[in-house]
Amino acid sequence: MPRLLEVIASKPSSIAYRITFSRDVSGRAAMSGRAEGVLSLVCQRCLENFEWKFDTRFESSVVGHEREESRGSDAVVCSDGRIELNSVVEDELLLALPTAPVHAFGTCQAPPIRTGGDPSASPSTSQFAALRELRSQIGVSD
Ligand SMILES: [Zn+2]
Repeated sequence: MPRLLEVIASKPSSIAYRITFSRDVSGRAAMSGRAEGVLSLVCQRCLENFEWKFDTRFESSVVGHEREESRGSDAVVCSDGRIELNSVVEDELLLALPTAPVHAFGTCQAPPIRTGGDPSASPSTSQFAALRELRSQIGVSD
Protein backbone atom coordinates (compact mmCIF):
# COMPACT_ATOMS: atom_id res chain seq x y z
CA MET A 1 0.00 0.00 0.00
CA PRO A 2 2.46 2.67 -1.21
CA ARG A 3 0.03 5.61 -1.01
CA LEU A 4 -0.80 4.77 2.59
CA LEU A 5 2.89 4.48 3.48
CA GLU A 6 3.37 8.06 2.28
CA VAL A 7 0.97 9.50 4.83
CA ILE A 8 1.74 7.45 7.93
CA ALA A 9 4.58 8.02 10.39
CA SER A 10 5.97 4.49 10.32
CA LYS A 11 5.06 1.12 8.91
CA PRO A 12 1.86 -0.35 10.32
CA SER A 13 2.21 -3.38 12.53
CA SER A 14 -0.76 -5.03 10.86
CA ILE A 15 -3.86 -4.43 8.81
CA ALA A 16 -6.49 -7.15 8.72
CA TYR A 17 -9.33 -7.10 6.26
CA ARG A 18 -12.20 -9.25 5.10
CA ILE A 19 -14.15 -8.64 1.92
CA THR A 20 -17.34 -10.42 0.93
CA PHE A 21 -18.68 -10.44 -2.60
CA SER A 22 -22.34 -10.82 -3.45
CA ARG A 23 -25.01 -9.95 -5.98
CA ASP A 24 -27.91 -7.65 -5.23
CA VAL A 25 -31.54 -8.38 -6.18
CA SER A 26 -31.01 -7.04 -9.69
CA GLY A 27 -27.93 -9.21 -10.20
CA ARG A 28 -25.31 -6.49 -9.86
CA ALA A 29 -22.08 -7.45 -8.18
CA ALA A 30 -21.35 -5.83 -4.86
CA MET A 31 -18.73 -6.08 -2.19
CA SER A 32 -18.67 -5.28 1.48
CA GLY A 33 -15.64 -5.22 3.66
CA ARG A 34 -14.15 -4.46 7.01
CA ALA A 35 -10.58 -3.45 7.81
CA GLU A 36 -9.03 -3.31 11.26
CA GLY A 37 -5.63 -2.44 12.54
CA VAL A 38 -3.34 0.20 13.93
CA LEU A 39 -1.54 2.92 11.99
CA SER A 40 1.18 5.20 13.29
CA LEU A 41 0.26 8.86 12.67
CA VAL A 42 1.87 12.16 13.63
CA CYS A 43 -0.17 14.13 16.18
CA GLN A 44 -0.82 17.61 14.75
CA ARG A 45 -0.79 19.11 18.26
CA CYS A 46 2.42 17.77 19.85
CA LEU A 47 4.09 16.41 16.67
CA GLU A 48 4.75 13.04 18.34
CA ASN A 49 3.74 9.75 16.76
CA PHE A 50 0.69 7.99 18.08
CA GLU A 51 -1.12 4.78 17.34
CA TRP A 52 -4.43 5.29 15.57
CA LYS A 53 -6.64 2.25 15.98
CA PHE A 54 -9.18 1.81 13.23
CA ASP A 55 -12.09 -0.45 12.45
CA THR A 56 -13.66 0.67 9.20
CA ARG A 57 -16.45 -0.88 7.15
CA PHE A 58 -17.18 -0.21 3.51
CA GLU A 59 -19.55 -1.23 0.77
CA SER A 60 -19.47 -0.67 -2.94
CA SER A 61 -20.80 -2.03 -6.17
CA VAL A 62 -18.51 -3.75 -8.67
CA VAL A 63 -18.73 -2.57 -12.27
CA GLY A 64 -17.04 -3.68 -15.45
CA HIS A 65 -16.33 -0.25 -16.97
CA GLU A 66 -15.51 3.27 -15.83
CA ARG A 67 -18.63 4.34 -17.76
CA GLU A 68 -20.88 2.35 -15.42
CA GLU A 69 -19.16 3.84 -12.40
CA SER A 70 -20.71 7.27 -13.00
CA ARG A 71 -24.14 5.81 -12.37
CA GLY A 72 -23.26 4.41 -8.98
CA SER A 73 -21.85 6.66 -6.32
CA ASP A 74 -19.23 4.28 -4.92
CA ALA A 75 -18.13 1.61 -7.36
CA VAL A 76 -15.04 -0.48 -7.85
CA VAL A 77 -14.09 -0.93 -11.51
CA CYS A 78 -13.22 -4.46 -12.47
CA SER A 79 -12.46 -4.18 -16.17
CA ASP A 80 -10.18 -7.21 -16.63
CA GLY A 81 -11.98 -9.55 -14.27
CA ARG A 82 -9.62 -8.81 -11.39
CA ILE A 83 -9.83 -6.56 -8.36
CA GLU A 84 -6.71 -5.42 -6.58
CA LEU A 85 -7.91 -5.95 -3.01
CA ASN A 86 -4.93 -4.20 -1.39
CA SER A 87 -5.70 -1.14 -3.49
CA VAL A 88 -9.39 -1.22 -2.52
CA VAL A 89 -8.51 -1.44 1.19
CA GLU A 90 -5.85 1.26 0.77
CA ASP A 91 -8.47 3.60 -0.77
CA GLU A 92 -10.83 2.97 2.14
CA LEU A 93 -8.13 3.59 4.74
CA LEU A 94 -7.05 6.83 3.03
CA LEU A 95 -10.68 7.96 3.21
CA ALA A 96 -10.97 6.89 6.85
CA LEU A 97 -7.81 8.68 7.98
CA PRO A 98 -8.51 11.67 10.23
CA THR A 99 -7.85 14.97 8.41
CA ALA A 100 -6.08 16.40 11.47
CA PRO A 101 -4.82 13.47 13.53
CA VAL A 102 -4.31 14.32 17.19
CA HIS A 103 -3.97 12.47 20.50
CA ALA A 104 -7.14 12.24 22.59
CA PHE A 105 -8.07 15.68 23.97
CA GLY A 106 -6.14 16.56 27.11
CA THR A 107 -3.48 13.87 26.73
CA CYS A 108 -0.80 16.00 25.06
CA GLN A 109 0.30 19.60 24.71
CA ALA A 110 1.67 21.64 21.85
CA PRO A 111 5.46 22.08 22.12
CA PRO A 112 6.69 25.55 23.22
CA ILE A 113 7.22 27.84 20.25
CA ARG A 114 10.91 28.35 19.54
CA THR A 115 12.05 31.71 18.22
CA GLY A 116 14.71 30.06 16.05
CA GLY A 117 17.66 32.01 17.44
CA ASP A 118 18.34 35.75 17.76
CA PRO A 119 17.63 37.28 14.32
CA SER A 120 19.87 40.29 15.10
CA ALA A 121 22.92 38.06 15.75
CA SER A 122 24.32 37.84 12.25
CA PRO A 123 23.70 41.46 11.14
CA SER A 124 25.35 42.82 14.30
CA THR A 125 28.30 40.45 13.79
CA SER A 126 28.77 41.82 10.30
CA GLN A 127 28.37 45.36 11.64
CA PHE A 128 31.24 44.70 14.08
CA ALA A 129 33.26 43.23 11.22
CA ALA A 130 32.62 46.37 9.15
CA LEU A 131 33.61 48.56 12.09
CA ARG A 132 36.82 46.56 12.59
CA GLU A 133 37.56 46.97 8.87
CA LEU A 134 36.96 50.71 9.10
CA ARG A 135 39.17 51.02 12.20
CA SER A 136 42.03 49.19 10.48
CA GLN A 137 41.65 51.45 7.43
CA ILE A 138 42.00 54.61 9.47
CA GLY A 139 44.83 53.10 11.51
CA VAL A 140 43.17 52.65 14.89
CA SER A 141 44.49 49.56 16.68
CA ASP A 142 42.48 47.49 19.19
ZN1 LIG B 1 -0.26 14.81 20.66
